[in-house]
Amino acid sequence: MLDSILVTGGAGYIGSHVVVTLLQSGHNVIVLDNLCNSSASSLDRAYQITGRKPVFIQGDVRDRELLDKLFTQHQVSSVLHFAGLKAVGESTREPLKYYENNIVGSVGLCQAMASAGVFKLVFSSSATVYGEPEQMPISESFATGAPTNPYGRSKLMTEQVLMDLASSDPRWSIALLRYFNPVGAHPTGLIGEDPNGIPNNLLPYISQVAIGKLKELTVFGSDYPTKDGTGVRDYIHVVDLAEGHLKALQAINDKQGLNVWNLGTGRGYSVLEMIRAFEQASNRVITYRMAPRRPGDIAECWAAPDKAEKELGWKAERTLNDMMIDTWRWQSLNPNGYTE
Ligand code: NAD
Ligand code: UDP
Repeated sequence: MLDSILVTGGAGYIGSHVVVTLLQSGHNVIVLDNLCNSSASSLDRAYQITGRKPVFIQGDVRDRELLDKLFTQHQVSSVLHFAGLKAVGESTREPLKYYENNIVGSVGLCQAMASAGVFKLVFSSSATVYGEPEQMPISESFATGAPTNPYGRSKLMTEQVLMDLASSDPRWSIALLRYFNPVGAHPTGLIGEDPNGIPNNLLPYISQVAIGKLKELTVFGSDYPTKDGTGVRDYIHVVDLAEGHLKALQAINDKQGLNVWNLGTGRGYSVLEMIRAFEQASNRVITYRMAPRRPGDIAECWAAPDKAEKELGWKAERTLNDMMIDTWRWQSLNPNGYTE
């Protein structure tokens, strides 16, 4: 049997881009996804892009029997764990659903991995675990803070579970990747972000205004202590992010224990700068109105990316204009996402 990489949540936005990167670099890939927030079409598109197919298993990461069977039937060398729920607002209304999926799901996955003798894990974490740091840029040496919602807390708690696990048994080799704000789409326009209902995140919202599905963007807060009063974030192209996963996977092959890496660009852009850059790339006008701050939002957040550069030999290469052009290409070629 050939070695494969298991990608949980591999049909989703970030996972599908990582699947493409893995297939293109010659890895065999197994995707486990229950499709609760995605479509298997993303994997057909991954095949169109790469000419290679991942094995797809439709199922839940919390299904221990299924995981045991998967590990028996396939020789898995490492696991990239994307499966989880990510809607901040929903997590406040249904916290148990989030703790169950994101924490219990991760614990069950680690138990199944250990019993199959698989000890290499890359976990999708988030800059939200830093809470509201006093200083920018955010480096991995900063203490984690207090995320403002159950989604963020589920990421922080899972990190803590994985830290305890790595300290308890030297066979584990774990990467915690803290993403800043992933945006953009594959340059082919074949895969991209396909949010369910009205988007919560800035760029999918802007692109739906551009295509005429939404009337206007609400800018949450114009009185932040930032360059123009609007919130500042470190937006990173999803293909750069995907390449960071490949590098992290290579790094944990040689390292033991737990390692934390920020995946960001080191640059912050305001909401107004994002609107302007999108208008330029798409040649459309984005109607917007200013509104009060969104509860739980921080003023600004950007990464110190040097640890990843030094230790992984990775840095984000794509520009803000690349992010906008690729988002717009995906949105205009697929106005209804993966729904035909
Ligand atoms: P996504 O919703 O597009 O992808 C998650 C995938 O996991 C989906 O395909 C979904 O169907 C699947 N899934 C969810 N629960 C599952 C379960 N119990 N069993 C099997 N499959 C399940 O989200 P994404 O943006 O691609 O995010 C991927 C990961 O990265 C998530 O863990 C998310 O929390 C994390 N993350 C995302 C962002 C972001 O802004 N997109 C930022 C930081 C961290
Ligand atoms: N934002 C906004 N309008 C929206 C969505 C987001 O003004 O409809 C702002 C938000 O306040 C933040 C930035 O855009 O300053 C990025 O928000 P997003 O939800 O994409 O990511 P977050 O960093 O909050 O996870």
